Amino acid sequence: MLPTTLDEAVSALSAVPAAVPVAGGTDLMCDVNSGQLRPAALVGLGRISEIRGWSYQDGHAVLGAGLTHARMGRPDFAALIPALAAAARAAGPPQIRNAGTLGGNIVSASPTGDALPVLAALEATLSIAGPEGARRELPVSHLLAGMDMLQPSEVVGYVKVPLLHAPQTFLKATSRTGPSRALASVAVVLDPMRRGVRCAVGAVAPMPLRPLEAENWIASLIDWDGRRALAPEVLTAFGEYVAMACIPDPPPEEGADGTPGTSGTPGQVSQLPPAALHLRRTVATLARRGLGRALA
Ligand SMILES: Cc1cc2nc3c(=O)[nH]c(=O)nc-3n(C[C@H](O)[C@H](O)[C@H](O)COP(=O)(O)OP(=O)(O)OC[C@H]3O[C@@H](n4cnc5c(N)ncnc54)[C@H](O)[C@@H]3O)c2cc1C
Repeated sequence: MLPTTLDEAVSALSAVPAAVPVAGGTDLMCDVNSGQLRPAALVGLGRISEIRGWSYQDGHAVLGAGLTHARMGRPDFAALIPALAAAARAAGPPQIRNAGTLGGNIVSASPTGDALPVLAALEATLSIAGPEGARRELPVSHLLAGMDMLQPSEVVGYVKVPLLHAPQTFLKATSRTGPSRALASVAVVLDPMRRGVRCAVGAVAPMPLRPLEAENWIASLIDWDGRRALAPEVLTAFGEYVAMACIPDPPPEEGADGTPGTSGTPGQVSQLPPAALHLRRTVATLARRGLGRALA
């Protein structure tokens, strides 16, 4: 089934309740090929032209869910939402970026989805199309946290993102050279109107994490009316604050006698395993660099 409007797609999904929508197919076909998913029918979203571009509304960009990573990576899009463009450019090899879409990235909700920390930092909202022309809005973070799910036959139509007209960054670390999934990623967004810094860390947990205390602390140190740059040691402290918030120390081990922090041996303190320590250092570096570049 190849509908040409959102409402046609919803009708097609309602008509065959076991049907599944498919956009670029880069995630879905992996599940089909590995035998994890056996859809009764597929409803292709690729012919719905209304969701392949973007428009403007009340200081926001309304992005079609069918925008590909390749399209979002182009300079005109980067001028609007630089961090999302940077995430799109980092999302896999060219074949994946040409086919994979924003909507698919969100609905797959993979911890390593590159668009997701950017959308969390931007506090983006989804516009969802449902049966009989119904439309509802849902914060992206609610979907990613599982607080609200897509209902059968609903389709993500648009993603509403504020236009902040200020620097924003997305940085990603991978475990090997060349395009690959994130080991950790950090999005930093400046919001000069609200004198805020918003930051989200991807890939270290099932959903992007927002270190809210670190955001408020660093925003209070920025001279919003003057030169915004911060001293290197402040940037370093921000990176460590973000990393500690997202990858905290383990709780003290309980000793045999139930005494916290002793683990049978008085004075023994629980330590992060080496892999988690490495991840924490990686996040600290990404956050420090991301904020430094946004303020440069
Ligand atoms: C080799 C490889 C490398 C990759 N590397 C990266 C990477 O570095 N970074 C990254 O972020 N991702 C990566 N991906 C994952 C994938 O490419 C992205 O998540 C992509 O954005 C998915 O979009 P899609 O259009 O292909 O989704 P699809 O595969 O078409 O769909 C994915 C899921 O979303 C649902 N869906 C899609 N669109 C809608 C909609 N509008 N409304 C409701 N449901 C919808 C589908 O039913 C399905 O459940 C990689 C994938 C592969 C195969």
